[in-house]
Amino acid sequence: MPRPEYSPWAVSVAQVASRAGQSKPIDAVFPAPSGIGDNIVGIPEGSDVHVVGSFDSIVDGLILTARISAPISTECTRCLKPINKDWTVDVTTFFPYESASADGRHGGRGRDDDKGEVDIIAGEDESEDTYPLTPDGAFADLEALIRDTLAESLPLQPLCREDCLGLCPQCGADLNEDPDHHHDVVDERFASLAALKAKLESGE
Ligand SMILES: [Zn+2]
Ligand SMILES: [Zn+2]
Repeated sequence: MPRPEYSPWAVSVAQVASRAGQSKPIDAVFPAPSGIGDNIVGIPEGSDVHVVGSFDSIVDGLILTARISAPISTECTRCLKPINKDWTVDVTTFFPYESASADGRHGGRGRDDDKGEVDIIAGEDESEDTYPLTPDGAFADLEALIRDTLAESLPLQPLCREDCLGLCPQCGADLNEDPDHHHDVVDERFASLAALKAKLESGE
């Protein structure tokens, strides 16, 4: 295993981890870890993930409060246009000191957890998301945090905009570009009446 400080996601926290009541701002760009979403909705590996916030030390660990933003790659579920914009998530997580001695036990939740259940409890029990510091307590590695946070927050039904009009169900035209687009629906009853009228007028 490479030394933690060589991880592209390692953040030195030695100076704040020394005692409670310290704060260290973070404003940095990390490469997106692999495995955030999929080809349908995801954050492409290696794209810029911007993390802005601060580490604050309390007695038994570090609290990271941060805003994470990264370019999302997906398409609108209504009009199928590609969506390329920044996806932003606010996160509060805990790096307990004790995890430093808990031999490699991994905190955080995997991508495979049932999304529905997680979402229901997320608001009440955010402190459940904890991540280990390096064994010497000098570094916080944000790889798992970035992956979990972004993966869990990805939209299930991404839209290019909230009021996207989608496509015409009959011909597939983009209704955003032509909101008045419609097809003249010929009512069967009027169609037969018209045929009858034409027949009468022709004198047959
Ligand atoms: Zn759309
Ligand atoms: Zn149409």
